[in-house]
Amino acid sequence: MSKQAAEYAWPDNYRSAVALSFDLDAESVILAVDRAYAARPSVMTHQAYGPITGLPRLLEILLEAGYRGTFFIPGFTADRYPGAVEAVLDGGHEVAHHGYLHRPPAHLTPEEERAELERGLEALARHGVRPVGFRAPWWETSPHTLGLLSEYGFDYDASLFDRDTPYAVTTPNGSIIEIPQSWALDDWERYAYMPDPPAGQGVIERPADVMETWWQEIVAYREYGGCAVPVMHPFLSGRPARALALRELLGRLASLPDVWVATLGDIAAHTSRLEMVPVPLDLPGLESF
Ligand SMILES: [Zn+2]
Repeated sequence: MSKQAAEYAWPDNYRSAVALSFDLDAESVILAVDRAYAARPSVMTHQAYGPITGLPRLLEILLEAGYRGTFFIPGFTADRYPGAVEAVLDGGHEVAHHGYLHRPPAHLTPEEERAELERGLEALARHGVRPVGFRAPWWETSPHTLGLLSEYGFDYDASLFDRDTPYAVTTPNGSIIEIPQSWALDDWERYAYMPDPPAGQGVIERPADVMETWWQEIVAYREYGGCAVPVMHPFLSGRPARALALRELLGRLASLPDVWVATLGDIAAHTSRLEMVPVPLDLPGLESF
């Protein structure tokens, strides 16, 4: 058996990991659907809540808890809210790539996907950031995404779903670390609601219920030695009751000293040091489907 899944070794005798991640989508996620929403102040301000109000609150909560997070920032957000990027950097957090206008690679041509990636890199470079990590908008990678990331020198991707622990993937341009994700740990499914464009499942859940689910997941990932990656959008999780519930969750997290709370970049760097045998991404039997 290769050093995958069950044999994944966390550093310093940690049993598992939690990576607190934040997607600062702001308006980009809506404008990628239709640029006409730019003329709709109610829709735009719903999204602007993220960088304007949610982000400072969440940064304060992270500071108080003493944890560093990973912030996936679309280039469009970085260009529109340069102060938000600076605030994240001032807090000592990791800034990672999340497309330019939040366009999912799965729906782009290879040329468009490359252009999005480059534009996003240019926007972050204006803040002196050379990101090592990428999360595909809508977690929708294309068959080219991991190879493209490898070509541009990224260390890791955080968009796939088939495991509980990080692993190495072969690409035409070298190997890259994948840190798998879970929709169960994404606040979008639990908190998002918008009539137009339609967003969310139609039910806005109680923050206490969401945090209880996440706590259960964190405890279960600890049992299985996995890497739990909660995903928070500041325009959703930055709202008052949700932010306070998150603060409580982080307090509970501190009661598990054998869980490594780290940035995705740190987890990718650790995984690289394990020198795992990279596996191809091919899903056997689906090549000719
Ligand atoms: Zn996003």
